[in-house]
Amino acid sequence: MILERLEVGPLATNCYVVGDKASHEGMVIDPGGDATAILEKVAALELNIKFIVLTHAHFDHIGALGRVKDAMKAEILVHRGDAEALSGGHRAAAEFGFSMPEAPHPDRLLGDGETLLLGASDFRVLHTPGHTPGGICLEGGGVVFTGDTLFNGSIGRTDLPGGDYGMILDSIKTKLLTLPDGTTVYPGHGLESTIGRERRLNPFLLSQ
Ligand SMILES: [Zn+2]
Ligand SMILES: [Zn+2]
Repeated sequence: MILERLEVGPLATNCYVVGDKASHEGMVIDPGGDATAILEKVAALELNIKFIVLTHAHFDHIGALGRVKDAMKAEILVHRGDAEALSGGHRAAAEFGFSMPEAPHPDRLLGDGETLLLGASDFRVLHTPGHTPGGICLEGGGVVFTGDTLFNGSIGRTDLPGGDYGMILDSIKTKLLTLPDGTTVYPGHGLESTIGRERRLNPFLLSQ
């Protein structure tokens, strides 16, 4: 698998550019800002981007969505539970003092258990509500992209609209801690980890 992390936007969001080695089909996960850097990375990797996947619709994960979409002509995918938040993303950004263009509409709404295919590589959509109602993780090829659900040593905040502390713990326990310990965790902010490491050391999960 081709996998590169870029730190983008005002809140240091991780944008991942992922591709299948044989076919060079690819996806961009969470284009939170810095569209030029994302597009340059895609070009350098010679990927044909099929999907632009949002782990959730918070403004720091969607800032470059319009520009990446225009350049790539790829499908924008978001879980149905965050579709409304996506259309209001620019207003949410303004509340935090950031200005952002209105986000384009999603091309397809995702549900739990769906599979995204890049050449011979497949990625499974895991609906993991709690940080937002439509938060997802994407699992495949021994890695999991966890958005703002699970971080290295922490979990996503649940005090924003639609957040639910009990629900995020339940999502992590039932959808993420059930993955093999060696699965690499690529979160929406900060450095990577593994499922085993989070199971053993994440203070929010020790009692789970
Ligand atoms: Zn978030
Ligand atoms: Zn975030």
